[in-house]
Amino acid sequence: MKPTLFISDLHLEDAVPARSEWFGAFLSGPATRAGELYILGDLFEFWIGDDALSTTAQQVATALQALGSAGVKCYFMHGNRDFLVGRDYAERAGLKLLPEEQVINLFGTPTLLLHGDSLCTDDVEYQALRRQVRDPQWQAGVLALSIEERLEMAKSARQASLQHTQSSSMEIMDVNAAAVDDAFRRHGVPRMIHGHTHRPARHAVILESGPAERIVLADWYDFGSYLMASPDGIESVRLES
Ligand code: MN
Repeated sequence: MKPTLFISDLHLEDAVPARSEWFGAFLSGPATRAGELYILGDLFEFWIGDDALSTTAQQVATALQALGSAGVKCYFMHGNRDFLVGRDYAERAGLKLLPEEQVINLFGTPTLLLHGDSLCTDDVEYQALRRQVRDPQWQAGVLALSIEERLEMAKSARQASLQHTQSSSMEIMDVNAAAVDDAFRRHGVPRMIHGHTHRPARHAVILESGPAERIVLADWYDFGSYLMASPDGIESVRLES
């Protein structure tokens, strides 16, 4: 049985070619031996619309399309950076778009997939921003702007995000335990996989219904990595560069 792979928080952009090279090596290497690949958000550092593709985005689409043609099913869930990735790009890259929360049967274990930002409920300021940018009307308004205006918006959003990250405590930026419990309860699953916090770990969680596990994916800032699930278990794998 072929393994299922999970990645998130690659934050690819033209300005950082190394990450795209790692991703290229991943797509032409380990990913080709997988049955399914799940990208759980923040594949791109920013996204201003499917009509304004960066060089990186074009290359990624070609590489993902090739992987899909080779028989690997590829899924994409939006992150807080690339929430504007649309159907056009998904089709071009051969990606199936997933909703904000998706439960899959992972070799017999129901597993909830999500980007992870919705769990960071202590960050009240961010949650307000999240509600705004996930609103379809707001998104349509932004996509109607010129590419120059959208680039300017993305630039100031990234600066504001950086300032917010630097001025907020580590606790506020992490998941809220009650939000985690609530997500487990709503979906009735014993496992979840998410990214976003850039704090890779496997957390044992005790629910009223029994033991559960929360797996956090690593970012690709210093090196590439992926989570590999098979009938034998789950392991985090660091890419050889
Ligand atoms: Mn994120």
